[in-house]
Amino acid sequence: MEIISDIAELRQIIQQFKRQEKSIGFVPTMGALHDGHLALIRASTNQNDITICSIFVNPTQFNNAVDLKNYPLEIDADIAKLETANCSVVFMPPKEKMYEKDFLLNIHIGYLEEIMEGKFRPGHFKGVGLIVTKLFNLVEPNRAYFGTKDLQQLTIIRRLTNELLFNIEIVPVSTIREEDGLAMSSRNKLLTTEERFQAIDLYEALQVAKKKLMAGESVISVQEHIQEFFKSESLIELEYFEIVRTSDLQKITKIHNADDVSLCIAGHLGKVRLIDNILLN
Ligand code: AMP
Repeated sequence: MEIISDIAELRQIIQQFKRQEKSIGFVPTMGALHDGHLALIRASTNQNDITICSIFVNPTQFNNAVDLKNYPLEIDADIAKLETANCSVVFMPPKEKMYEKDFLLNIHIGYLEEIMEGKFRPGHFKGVGLIVTKLFNLVEPNRAYFGTKDLQQLTIIRRLTNELLFNIEIVPVSTIREEDGLAMSSRNKLLTTEERFQAIDLYEALQVAKKKLMAGESVISVQEHIQEFFKSESLIELEYFEIVRTSDLQKITKIHNADDVSLCIAGHLGKVRLIDNILLN
């Protein structure tokens, strides 16, 4: 596995792969890798000749300086995991190489950056849009892999890829969970043992909501039930629970097509912010 931090060096090796007509799969990450990330790597190695993984804790997508400071860094362990997973190249650029000191560019993503995550993390998706655009330009992959755990991110990346005419297939990968159902996340490492037990409330709430909706309960009643549960029975401070159309993330008030509905949730547990979502069907 090649470990590259220099942009020119990355470009050189990419051109070499292109000349050899090798297909390139790309997995952008912020490191502290877990089995969720490795599922993306596996999907890529199955479909491509070359798999490139980037590890870059992107400062522009953090709206909270403490969150950025506390974000886990485990470079040596990450490299070992990527090596075992047959990743071909890991790209770990320094911050200064990805952003000019006085950079001006800003990406607007319309309503998609205002709702759900965007409401609680203003500017987050502008940062995501910017870094993914830069990385797509550098890596020029045939396919790029994103987890459905970050459903709003996946939706935005699809939109960005279409609108900017990137010739890249965006491949979604289902959420990998711990045994009790908690969605794997680099942030789980920051939970105390007690909080780790409580964290399961998010997934359990999604399951309860799903069951109620499938049994015909109204959207509004299910929303009230979940809000009430977090108010009275959980240590998680709920930020949002939304029932949306999977295709465009617009809120729905009635279920017309259960195949196009997602339940999305986010909350704080101590200092840690967790998100999750499931499909209704
Ligand atoms: P991150 O390092 O958190 O920016 O995540 C990098 C990629 O891994 C994103 O496409 C995430 O959606 C994806 N990802 C994170 N957690 C999981 C998970 N539990 N299962 C599947 N994919 C995940």
